[in-house]
Amino acid sequence: MPATGRPEPERERITEGEVESELQRFGKAIEVVAGKLSKTAENLRASGSEEEAGIFEFHVEMAEDPELASAVEERLRNLQSPERAVLAVGEEYAAQFAAMDEYMAARADDVRDVTAQISAQLMGQGDSGFETLQTPSVVLAQTLAPSDTARIKEGMALGFVTAKGSRTSHVSIMARSMGIPAVVGVGPGLDEALDAQTVALDGGEGYAVADPDADTVARFERMSAALAEERAALDEYRHVEASTSDGRRIEVAANLGAASEAEDALEWGAEGVGLFRTEFLFMERDDLPSEDEQYEAYSAVARAFGEKPVIVRTLDVGGDKNLPGVDQTPEENPFLGWRGIRMSLDTPELFKPQLRAILRAAVHGNLEVMFPMVADVGELKAAKAMLQESRRELESEGVEIGEVETGVMIETPAAAVCAEELAKESAFFSVGTNDLVQYTLAADRGSERLRRLQNADHPAVLALIRKTCKAASAAGIPVGVCGEAAGEPEMIPKLIDLGVTELSMAAPQIPRAKKVVSEL
Ligand code: PEP
Ligand code: MG
Repeated sequence: MPATGRPEPERERITEGEVESELQRFGKAIEVVAGKLSKTAENLRASGSEEEAGIFEFHVEMAEDPELASAVEERLRNLQSPERAVLAVGEEYAAQFAAMDEYMAARADDVRDVTAQISAQLMGQGDSGFETLQTPSVVLAQTLAPSDTARIKEGMALGFVTAKGSRTSHVSIMARSMGIPAVVGVGPGLDEALDAQTVALDGGEGYAVADPDADTVARFERMSAALAEERAALDEYRHVEASTSDGRRIEVAANLGAASEAEDALEWGAEGVGLFRTEFLFMERDDLPSEDEQYEAYSAVARAFGEKPVIVRTLDVGGDKNLPGVDQTPEENPFLGWRGIRMSLDTPELFKPQLRAILRAAVHGNLEVMFPMVADVGELKAAKAMLQESRRELESEGVEIGEVETGVMIETPAAAVCAEELAKESAFFSVGTNDLVQYTLAADRGSERLRRLQNADHPAVLALIRKTCKAASAAGIPVGVCGEAAGEPEMIPKLIDLGVTELSMAAPQIPRAKKVVSEL
């Protein structure tokens, strides 16, 4: 069921002495909300979604409307709390719109939405509505950015349905690790479901039914029971150390998006963390986490996994992942833009605290560091030099640090082609098939129209993985896969044949992957 679940203000009145400071807070809240809305509009425009961008631009105008501001000010001077006043003015506007022509009537919900965001901002509840979701719901959206999904409280999303997206877009990846179904890329079909009270989802087959009839509900219930049975049958594989029948030991690890997922991943049978996507730590908030906050998060995962290896990937922002608090000028081609290691090397003020936090946290476990989006050995050397610099700084400050190995994601065709050179500078490789596929086949990983090409089982991609494994084997370093292909039963035998020895995936997929390996 769709729900925005915005909270009601608890405070109705303010005192005479609070008027001026509350007016200032109100002005600031407008600024924050308008800023975020216009950033969303810019991003949508940059990604070619002109129509949606127009809606957000209209929302910016509404948020900044001087008449709205003076109507709220008047109420505030009459000692109504600003969070209540802005909602009340929003309702007045909405009623006026509703009485006009059809076009304006449709704007009533827009003004309610904008004023609710300002009210939520005033109550310290952020802007997106995702963090205030208070009823477990199926979330329906045109598109869901990682920063949206990262803000949803645990247990509040029962599933996702989006108009845009594909199997390897981040909304699918996050749903997989949250263990919830996602039906993505439904296109205009989404509109039919927007008013539904109930939505039935089949994440496996990729379809959703709005307001299902009793027969459909019964069918979905049977499917869900069968799925639960299938999962239970896999339980015996959770803690197996998987090997193929010819004796190749394959380590099966988890991809994490947050430190809080660590315990769960261990329960699913993770033998380590093949990919800790640290950018989500940065996305579930409006400001940047400090070195100490990062240290706490990395330490928590290191402690939870003990001797088991944990690969911490440095910030991979850009593409479809934006960072609140960092000025990212919209780009024509964000996936080909200022992403991953490119951004980290250009912003030492962001990169160094992260490296320092990883080095400090390494005292508590077996951490390894991995760099994303590397295209040549120069980038790897520069990143390693920054790591070394951070190490020296900490040593001279007398801060305790641990040993960390450094590895590289092979997710650009350039990295695969240069694997021999990169191997000389790396302790391990991890193939990011999601990006390797999109860059090799020139097929946007988020496009619902390019499903045929979003396929790691393509001869060009397999050739690059083969080349990577050969170079790694010659250098005596291991190769893992941490893209979605690692958890796909039909891809696992192929990856192992190519020489991959570690598979890292959304934790709920681990038992099935171990079973597949054990039966090879
Ligand atoms: C990948 O590209 O395969 C990968 C694992 O990284 P991300 O999905 O976070 O881009
Ligand atoms: Mg990637």
